[in-house]
Amino acid sequence: MKRRAVIFTAAAAAVFSFCAFHYENAAVFVGHITGKPSVVLDPGHGGIDGGALSSDGTSEKNINLNIAMLLRERLKKEGITVIMTRTEDRGLYGGNEEGAIRSLKTRDMKERRAVIDSSECDLAVSIHLNSFTQDETVKGAQVFYSGGGGNTVAKKSRNAAELLQNKLNRNINEDKKRSELEKNDVFLLQDPVCPTVIVECGFLSNPREAERLKRRSYQKKISTSLAEGISEYICKNSVKDCKNTVSEDRRQKVK
Ligand SMILES: [Zn+2]
Repeated sequence: MKRRAVIFTAAAAAVFSFCAFHYENAAVFVGHITGKPSVVLDPGHGGIDGGALSSDGTSEKNINLNIAMLLRERLKKEGITVIMTRTEDRGLYGGNEEGAIRSLKTRDMKERRAVIDSSECDLAVSIHLNSFTQDETVKGAQVFYSGGGGNTVAKKSRNAAELLQNKLNRNINEDKKRSELEKNDVFLLQDPVCPTVIVECGFLSNPREAERLKRRSYQKKISTSLAEGISEYICKNSVKDCKNTVSEDRRQKVK
């Protein structure tokens, strides 16, 4: 979740960002009417904030977005309403990119929280890539969950993290299993309204893993793993009846 600031000006993009934000909020409203399970996907960083960097200069922001967009398609096929915090290479600044980088980042994080908190979603999944330059051999996908938000939310967050971690361990962490971890010092995970997890899909600081993360086929493998975990979570935890929303074969597998 390392952040890197790059100077940029984009008045036209600001107008579009504003429209896109309201369009995505419309999906929240639709989700409430239909009573379908809903998931917020939050591709980390964007716009001036590239996030973690690989040694060849690849930033996490676009890989996060690719994985989230692939995941969105998978979940929609399962009958799950998906709300995105962003669908473009941009931060969430409410249509105004003026101001110091630090204050823009604060505004961005608050907007992401506002989307999640107002959605009344069944689960919020924030997608990131990790970096640990002190040791380039460190690798693997890991899920972090919030221990806050009251007992029910905390329990569901932990359960979602466990299910997602299991799928990632089975599908992409073949030679290095990881464990889900509670983390409460990140703004997004502090007293959430919805059960919330952050998925760090791999380490950009590991050159071999960075190469894999850049590949579309690997991004698909990650999104498939996350879709499987989310579907299982929805069936196990949603107060809504999953039999009307999640495909029959998936339901059979979950039982
Ligand atoms: Zn990040």
